[in-house]
Amino acid sequence: MGVFRFEEGSAKHPFFTLPENSLIVFGLIHQFGPISKTDLCNILQKKMTPINRMLQPLELHNFVIVHSKGDSTGGRKPMLYDINPHQHYLLGINFSTTYCEVALVNLRLETLAIERFQVDVATHPDSVVEKASALCYRFVQSENISMHQVLGVGVSVFSSFNESTGFICRPIKLYAHERWVEYPILQEVQKRIPLPVHIEKGTNAAALLEYVHGKGMHSKKMFYLLCAMNIRSAMLFEGKLINTAPNYEDAFGHMTIDYDGDRCDCGWYGCVAAYATIPAVVKAFLTGLKMGRTSSVQKPIETITFPDICDAVHTGDLLAREVIERSASMLGLALANYINLFAPELIILSGLIPQNCPLYYEIAVETAKKKVELLQVPTNIRFEQNGMYSTPITIGAAALILDQAFHLRPPLDYKSIDL
Ligand SMILES: [Zn+2]
Repeated sequence: MGVFRFEEGSAKHPFFTLPENSLIVFGLIHQFGPISKTDLCNILQKKMTPINRMLQPLELHNFVIVHSKGDSTGGRKPMLYDINPHQHYLLGINFSTTYCEVALVNLRLETLAIERFQVDVATHPDSVVEKASALCYRFVQSENISMHQVLGVGVSVFSSFNESTGFICRPIKLYAHERWVEYPILQEVQKRIPLPVHIEKGTNAAALLEYVHGKGMHSKKMFYLLCAMNIRSAMLFEGKLINTAPNYEDAFGHMTIDYDGDRCDCGWYGCVAAYATIPAVVKAFLTGLKMGRTSSVQKPIETITFPDICDAVHTGDLLAREVIERSASMLGLALANYINLFAPELIILSGLIPQNCPLYYEIAVETAKKKVELLQVPTNIRFEQNGMYSTPITIGAAALILDQAFHLRPPLDYKSIDL
């Protein structure tokens, strides 16, 4: 997955030279910490001596810290191991089509600084990378840390990219500057920030974050759907990212649900994306107004935006509700197709539409459940409106560095690991 490159000499950083056993222990502490040595021994089925040996380099390089606040059973309070939040850091940059967001996080993935700026079709990628890099340096400076303490930069992009070159591929519909196509994003970031850089598709980064550190932590099979300008998806199965459509990530959005339906940007008709995306919702709402429908949105028609429609739903506007209900039903039908084929345990609906419009989420889930029940598919599927992180693509980008180095990818069968 992704492209991972090292700055000359960066491999000497202790972070990248930790023994494999210590990395596994770090992963356990990240997942279950604060945790006692006895619990580590129990999980790994090892005696205290090898556990001490595995912990030693983690303590030496300050990757973990020790508390003494465990549950006391009358004797000495046990020492608890936890991730050190004050020694090493990660940077995440999310290159979206409508904005760019930069975050500095600690190894617990707690956000220390985050900021976004708007971009549009006229913004050249060079200026976006330049501004994002400047933000990275500013965050590091304002938090009074050194760049040597930053372990790497995780980059998430709005489209697929060439796995060997890191160049961005053309999406089915490009909502950004033409120069983004074949843009060497990885090289451009690394030119400005000489640290290890890892790149991943935005949806994959967000899905991995939820699977490894968030709501998907205990699921074997998780489906993550991002509904916004387009519909992007990612599937994780037993710790592996299933790249079913490596060359474009909005394959789900171009599933045909009505061959005689509305025209889609891909050139075909009746794709889910022709109904369930922000442009589709806005278009349907404007069509209603042009047909003479009344609405509480009192603005010139050409200035009406998606947030206006969401606000109208909240105030009970009939047209806005109808538009969202139709859009979400279409998504629900497509979701049911997917559930019938792959039976995920957990489905997370994320992105600007479910975040801002609960009705969209409710109708989509209701429709999917109805159709799945009809086909007598087991319905113990868990649905979640958004994941655990409010900015999952950006924090997910930063977490790529951590996950890559520490192999944080549950569910791990610790007993089967040969230590
Ligand atoms: Zn399409």
